[in-house]
Amino acid sequence: MKLAIYGKGGIGKSTISCNLSIALARRGQKVLQIGCDPKHDSTFTLTSFLIPTIIDTLQAKDYHYEDVWPEDVIYQGYNGVSCVEAGGPPAGAGCGGYVVGETVKLLKELNAFYEYDIVLFDVLGDVVCGGFAAPLNYADYCLIVTDNGFDALFAANRIVASIREKARSHNLRLAGLIGNRTTQRDLIDKYVEYCPMPVLEILPLIEDIRISRVKGQTIFELAESNFELNDVCDFYLNIADQLLSSPEGVVPTELLDRELFSLLSDFYLTMENEKDQDDFLMI
Ligand code: ADP
Ligand code: MG
Repeated sequence: MKLAIYGKGGIGKSTISCNLSIALARRGQKVLQIGCDPKHDSTFTLTSFLIPTIIDTLQAKDYHYEDVWPEDVIYQGYNGVSCVEAGGPPAGAGCGGYVVGETVKLLKELNAFYEYDIVLFDVLGDVVCGGFAAPLNYADYCLIVTDNGFDALFAANRIVASIREKARSHNLRLAGLIGNRTTQRDLIDKYVEYCPMPVLEILPLIEDIRISRVKGQTIFELAESNFELNDVCDFYLNIADQLLSSPEGVVPTELLDRELFSLLSDFYLTMENEKDQDDFLMI
């Protein structure tokens, strides 16, 4: 099964990816996590260091793909999760999306995809250009991480549009939304009312999760010496179990930007004339 995790920058994709990868490994799956964010820290809490990126390795080999071996780019992380980082172009030059495309191409040439039960792509979703959308060409399920705020839901809605588009050519489904760092969910619920999709889990802001990033360890690893953290692990195990039960998922249809602004912003509603509001409420 191939999974693609998308969401606004800083929303918690990598934290969820690492802990979800372990949760899946704990359920007996062989997992490869591929960080596709130029930030290249997706797998940091799995390996406790910043592993060399695919783009660095390719550069060192003068872009001779045939000289790259799986062990050059695939590193072993906690609980046997395999880790890859795509990396990014030099600041102010090149294209991050292109790097993601090249990463997928190289891993295919290395036959890496066939060795794993789960391949999990951790991808940023502020801009879903062709390159950053590339993992959607391979994914069976997409998951979107959001909080209860406008910016993250706006990014989520853009990702929804990309899923709808990619689902025309292959069997891609949206497994659902994961709420992160929030106990409130009124805007998330409003969004899924108009754009129906499952909400797989809502994770609150948990200080131990923030600390786990600083320590370079996942919550699962920290839970070995602090049993109270098993409750936090259960959030991720719950998501893993839902995915392993082959959920139906949805092919969603995004809202228009104007609809999203009306839906999520009381201020905007008061600026709109009543006729426009009526139009929207009739959708
Ligand atoms: P992204 O990969 O989307 O850019 P990260 O996973 O790197 O985001 O998370 C950004 C920051 O938020 C990290 O410092 C991480 O530890 C913290 N974080 C993520 N999820 C939570 C949570 N549920 N509670 C507290 N801190 C969190
Ligand atoms: Mg990240």
